[in-house]
Amino acid sequence: MASKKFKTEVTDLLQLIIHSLYSNREIFLRELISNASDAIDKLRYLSLTDEKYKDFQNEFRIDISFTENNPRTLTIKDNGLGMNEKELEDDLGTIAQSGTKKFLSSLKESDQKDSNLIGQFGVGFYSAFMVADKIEVTSKKAGEDKAYKWTSDGKSTYTIEEAEREGNGTTIVLYLNEDGSSYANRYEIESLIRKYSDHIAYPIYLEYDQVNYDYEHKDEKGEPIRTSEHKIEKINSSSALWRRNKSEITDEEYKNFYKNNYYDNEDPLFYIHTKAEGTTEYTTLFYIPAKAPFDMYYADYTPGVKLYVKRVYITDDDKTLLPAYLRFVRGVIDSEDLPLNVSREILQENRVMGAIRNGSVKKLLSEFKKMSEQNPELYEKFIKEYNRPLKEGLYSDYANRESLLELVRFHSSRTEGYVSLNDYKEHMKADQKAIYYITGGTETTLKSSPLVTSYKDKGYEVLIMDDDIDEIVVSQLFEYKDLPFKAINKSGALDEEKSDDEKAREEEKKPLVEKMKKALDGKVKDVIISSRLSASTPACVIMDENDPTVRMQRILKQMGTDAPEAKPILEVNLSSPLIQRIEEESDEEMVRKLSTVVLGNALLQEGLMPEDPVAFSAMLSSLLSM
Ligand code: ADP
Repeated sequence: MASKKFKTEVTDLLQLIIHSLYSNREIFLRELISNASDAIDKLRYLSLTDEKYKDFQNEFRIDISFTENNPRTLTIKDNGLGMNEKELEDDLGTIAQSGTKKFLSSLKESDQKDSNLIGQFGVGFYSAFMVADKIEVTSKKAGEDKAYKWTSDGKSTYTIEEAEREGNGTTIVLYLNEDGSSYANRYEIESLIRKYSDHIAYPIYLEYDQVNYDYEHKDEKGEPIRTSEHKIEKINSSSALWRRNKSEITDEEYKNFYKNNYYDNEDPLFYIHTKAEGTTEYTTLFYIPAKAPFDMYYADYTPGVKLYVKRVYITDDDKTLLPAYLRFVRGVIDSEDLPLNVSREILQENRVMGAIRNGSVKKLLSEFKKMSEQNPELYEKFIKEYNRPLKEGLYSDYANRESLLELVRFHSSRTEGYVSLNDYKEHMKADQKAIYYITGGTETTLKSSPLVTSYKDKGYEVLIMDDDIDEIVVSQLFEYKDLPFKAINKSGALDEEKSDDEKAREEEKKPLVEKMKKALDGKVKDVIISSRLSASTPACVIMDENDPTVRMQRILKQMGTDAPEAKPILEVNLSSPLIQRIEEESDEEMVRKLSTVVLGNALLQEGLMPEDPVAFSAMLSSLLSM
């Protein structure tokens, strides 16, 4: 029998697991039981959908037994689908599973070996090598004749040989090492099953010898008579939690279910258990993790919702069960009405699935809303993690836009922290006709920008939209409860506010405008006269209604989009001495210098670099030295 080498990545992984998970090594049992349960899920599914497997509807179960000495072993046996020779080779000899691969690469990337990160992955079968120095996996695939045994010490090689096994399924024997010695113990195993695997839908039996002492009767030595009784006891409650009645489930059971199924050490922020009855019948149990999943911003994020049909597991890898912006939600959807052999393609177009998806989204959004009203503190935590994905929903989920508008939060000129659009509306001045906002900078630069200050001084609140995504989102929102959104740093906001006097003054100041435009020679799209800046501010830059802000243009450029470059508009303040000076100045070179400095300064105030910082600084120095 030839022994084969593991792929190098497996050896790497084994070492990593052993080192990083060591203090948490008891999870190996959870991993093996969950593999056994998956293998039974697969066979159960086939037995219900594939003629060839219909005789396999036997009593599915998982059996655990142990020997205390010579050798000290722990055995986990299932009557699931099993593996044939090739699958033993492929599944246990390489890292087949993408979750494991992600685990490896993010550990390497982040160098962050804390158990929280590790907790987000299923590390699987290999974790058993933390407690065993040899493992034998004997398996017979359902519907095939031969059984095979895979053996390895977890160091660098493994062997596969033909073997005997009664019936289909897999038997895993761990030869426990020093660190694993405590697991050959009835109480230890029982408590681990209760802790991690209580929700497993198939019965888990533990086989052990119960020793009884009969104190009434003594032997020749005067010791109580000792008898031993062989017992096989079911340990888990083996009912799908979500199928039980809400009133019968404790908070702790809900939380344990989450922690054991979704690889999180922390309690969820909250959970929502719903049984929908009516034209489509289904049950959902959704959890919101306390911390956003680490891969929330990866394009190939792992979806968090599992689909069951009448308690039969169908998939945990379908990104269409919920819309992408709700990808942080974890949980279960269990349908009564879908066919068991529903394929991925069917799922996407299926009417029943569509109804479940819509119902689930509505339920989630309405629960978020409820939380915002009833538990603001919790909602604040929620927003800290999930404001951004909800904003994505504003442009991707048109049908629920109204609800999402109630949920998202923005920074504001009025207060620290976040405000809702409703808060904004309630604080509006009587004559106010629009929701004012500003984009194109960080929270600090925007809050201190002269434009925001001038609105604030007049008693208007301005939403500070400093999130990268805000500018894209807000450009697609037209109004909230009949109030239009107006960017204060875009030209459109101004026109309606102008009085006739202001319009007349604009006419009168045309020569100044022309003079500055000429001096700035193509650096600005326009120069306009301000009616809103406070006295100490000579000028500010704004954008034309339809142009993206300078910051947005830079983001678009970084993303590789070549959007045409849009120039800012310079808005000047007639009561500023600097602008008055330009108006009076007749020397063209001087006008050019002064105008360039005014523009550069206005850009800096928005946290933006002037186009040519060296020239700007040279001009500033030359002016100062005069
Ligand atoms: P994961 O379970 O995350 O896929 P594992 O390393 O635990 O990763 O297992 C690798 C693969 O080995 C599984 O995906 C499965 O195909 C197979 N496997 C493991 N245990 C069993 C089992 N008890 N019965 C059948 N197949 C199994």
